[in-house]
Amino acid sequence: MGTLKYKRIMLKISGEALAGDERFGISPLVLSFLADEIRTVHDLGVQVAVVVGGGNIFRGVAASAEGMDRSSGDYIGMLATVINGLALQDVLERKGVATRVQTAIEMRQLAEPFIRRRAVRHLEKGRIVIFVGGTGNPYFSTDTAAALRAMEVGAEVVFKATRVDGVYTADPLLDPSAKKFDELSYIEVLNRRLKVMDSTAISLCMDNLFPIVVFNLRQPGILRQLVFGEKVGTLVRGGETC
Ligand code: UDP
Repeated sequence: MGTLKYKRIMLKISGEALAGDERFGISPLVLSFLADEIRTVHDLGVQVAVVVGGGNIFRGVAASAEGMDRSSGDYIGMLATVINGLALQDVLERKGVATRVQTAIEMRQLAEPFIRRRAVRHLEKGRIVIFVGGTGNPYFSTDTAAALRAMEVGAEVVFKATRVDGVYTADPLLDPSAKKFDELSYIEVLNRRLKVMDSTAISLCMDNLFPIVVFNLRQPGILRQLVFGEKVGTLVRGGETC
């Protein structure tokens, strides 16, 4: 067995990823699969932080397009991430993994408030920390929350789970001639408007030279490959390509 490349990781799972093919609600099968993947890297000794999205339940932007006040919609969206986070916690704990949920919006009966030092301590003790409630602010996304929390807790990388196996020149599900990037720079992502993460999240990573790996979490064993530094998915970082 090789040596681990990453000892502390941030995994961003979108709400849609939890929904499976229905793209709505939470699929118990998908949840169980994801928990097994996470447990595998946790058992290797990797410290795992997770940010979950809420798009399978509610999106503020979509609601505001229908006339809802944007901030109200976004707060509902943030609550949706709490539902997903608690579901992920439940399945991980049933598989014997110790977890803590920390929320950016206080709800003491359900989860700890976000306290950076406490989150780091949980990680050091081998607990999986699931961050919910996004950043706690409307007009942001859980991608930004993932980048922000990753830096705050001293993770080394954000692993951004998607439905495809990396970043392509165009959507490979729509355009068969689309080509996959093995590596690219933040500025290319922004200039080409590639759908890696939203621009706020990318800018935050760019300003702090924080690496992102985009990969397909549906591929069994891929998280394990990633923590050993295997070149799967697409790596977004600074450097010569900038
Ligand atoms: N959201 C927000 N602030 C945040 C994070 C999330 O307002 O810091 C809201 C926003 O309305 C968003 C929803 O929560 O549409 C769900 O999050 P997101 O769209 O990032 O979830 P994902 O696409 O990852 O499922």
